[in-house]
Amino acid sequence: MKSDLWIEEKCDNIMGLKFKVEKTLFSGQSEFQSVDVVETKGHGKMLLNDGLVMLSERDEFVYHDMIAHLPLFVHPCPENVLIIGGGDGATARETFRHHDVKRCVMVEIDKMVVHACKEFIPSCSCELDNPKLDLIIGDGVKFAKETKEKFDVILIDSTDPIGPAQPLFGEEFYRDIHNCLNDNGIVVSQGESPWYQNKMQNKLMSIKSKLFDVVSVYNFSNLTYPGGLWSFTFASKGLHPIKDFKEEKVSKSGLKFKYYNESIHKAAFALPQFQKENVQEFVKG
Ligand code: SAM
Repeated sequence: MKSDLWIEEKCDNIMGLKFKVEKTLFSGQSEFQSVDVVETKGHGKMLLNDGLVMLSERDEFVYHDMIAHLPLFVHPCPENVLIIGGGDGATARETFRHHDVKRCVMVEIDKMVVHACKEFIPSCSCELDNPKLDLIIGDGVKFAKETKEKFDVILIDSTDPIGPAQPLFGEEFYRDIHNCLNDNGIVVSQGESPWYQNKMQNKLMSIKSKLFDVVSVYNFSNLTYPGGLWSFTFASKGLHPIKDFKEEKVSKSGLKFKYYNESIHKAAFALPQFQKENVQEFVKG
């Protein structure tokens, strides 16, 4: 009999997303979470943490273009970048395409995610041995509190706010992030679903609006996350994501993208009315 294996991600116990699986490539339980890499029928390889889809090879470029290139093109000279989480390596991969970037520190709590992706998803992890990368296996919350380094751009590429990622959605963490940003620094964070996690999105926006001069939220469409529409939150000590965006930087860079372009950069900040009403009290700048 032919096997008919599907995985299902359940969202808030009210809906689920199913993917046809051809083969399990890796399955492990770390001290933080379960880590699975599967070969799917229609979405390439897929990484799941605690049964939640982190990425699929079919659409990961959308998330990673939008977390990395948008802030890296707003900042006039992003030399030092910090990534919190991001163990699959794809945010670092996109970061290193910017020639201004001299050094990137990535703090990922779970070495099992890094090892599984290095072995089974090289399309994402291909830059994890880049000599400009300082990969620290440790807690991003602790790192942000203790580091003396300052960064131009910080990318919070985290799982949902459960387990070790919970404090990454808290005020104390963002106070520390504010402290380790340079004067014109930018922080972009995985901002959850405007459909299903609007309370968490608002919480993140309200924390950022207490601490930063410019705060905003932008959207992208993601095939493999519940609800399809997903967000990043943007905050900075002064740089505005649209007013300080020099479009010509994109064409001058010579970089080619599959999702990001100058129009998407600006259009991503156009919010559907329900989301606009939810977040408007926290948008600043
Ligand atoms: N694109 C993904 C998404 O939003 O579904 C995120 C991908 S990346 C795999 C998220 C990473 O954040 C995980 O590997 C997880 O181990 C890491 N992480 C969670 N909490 C963390 C913490 N406190 N410090 C550092 N990394 C953390």
